[in-house]
Amino acid sequence: QLKLFYQPKIDLGTRTIIGAEGLLRWQSPELGNVSPDEFIPVAEETGLIVPIGDWVLRTACKEAAAWRKLIANPVHVGVNLSSVQFQQGDLFNKVENALAESGLPAALLDLELTESILVANPEETIQTLNRLKDMGANVSIDDFGTGYSSLSYLTRFPLDSLKIDRAFVTNLPDDDNAVAIVRAIISMSKSLNLNIIAEGVETENQVGFLHALGCQVGQGYLFSKPI
Ligand code: C2E
Ligand code: CA
Ligand code: CA
Repeated sequence: QLKLFYQPKIDLGTRTIIGAEGLLRWQSPELGNVSPDEFIPVAEETGLIVPIGDWVLRTACKEAAAWRKLIANPVHVGVNLSSVQFQQGDLFNKVENALAESGLPAALLDLELTESILVANPEETIQTLNRLKDMGANVSIDDFGTGYSSLSYLTRFPLDSLKIDRAFVTNLPDDDNAVAIVRAIISMSKSLNLNIIAEGVETENQVGFLHALGCQVGQGYLFSKPI
C-alpha cells in the first residue's frame, strides 16, 4: 500500500529538472489516502519507520538508477530521513547497500535531514554524515528556518544544501518579514558555500524574486506536485 511519489527540483535559471524528492504515499484500502504528516509520526513512535525507511532508500536508489537510462542529464534523488533511522546506528551500511544494489552513483543521492536529527545525537550524527559525505553522497537540511535552527549546526555538520521552509516562501514577495528572512538565509548560505533550495514555490513572482537573490533551485506546485 506504500508508494513513493517524486517531486522535481528545478534549476530556476535554465528551468530544467536537476533532481526529484521522494515523498511517501499511503493508499490504504480502509482509510483512503493518508498524509505522511499523519502516518510518519506513528511509524516513528512504533519503530516501523526503520523498515519503511529502508524500503524508501532502496526504492529511490533503484528508480533513480533507472532514470539514468532514460534521461541524458544527471538527475539527483532526494530521500527524507527520520531521526529514528540515525539512532539505529547502521544507516551508513544501509545507504552503502542501497547504492551498491542499484548501481546509483553516490553523488546522485541527496539525504534530507531535519534539524531534530542534528539535535538528537550530534556527535554520532557528525561521524555518520562524514562517512556518507566521504562516500560522495549529499546532505541537506530540510525545513530550514523552523524548529531549532541553531546557526552553529551550519558549521559543525558537513552540509551541502539548505532547503528554505515553505512557510517563508509562501509569503514572498509581499510580506516584508518573509523577504528579510529569505534574503538573510540566502546571503548566509552563499558565504558558507551552501546551495539553497526553495520549497513550496507556487508563483512566477516567487521564482523571479528568489532567482534575483541568488537562489538557484526551486521546488513546488508551480512546477509540479509530487507525481
Ligand atoms: P517535506 O520533506 O518538507 O516535504 C515537502 C512537503 O511539501 C510535501 O508534503 C509536498 O507535497 C509539499 N509541497 C511541495 N510543494 C508544495 C507547494 O508548492 N505548496 C504546498 N502547499 N505544498 C507543497 P507531503 O508529501 O505531504 O510530505 C509531508 C512530510 O512528510 C515531508 O515534508 C516529510 O517531512 C515527510 N515525509 C514524506 N516522505 C517521507 C519519507 O519517505 N521518509 C520520512 N522520514 N519522511 C517523509
Ligand atoms: Ca524533504
Ligand atoms: Ca521541507
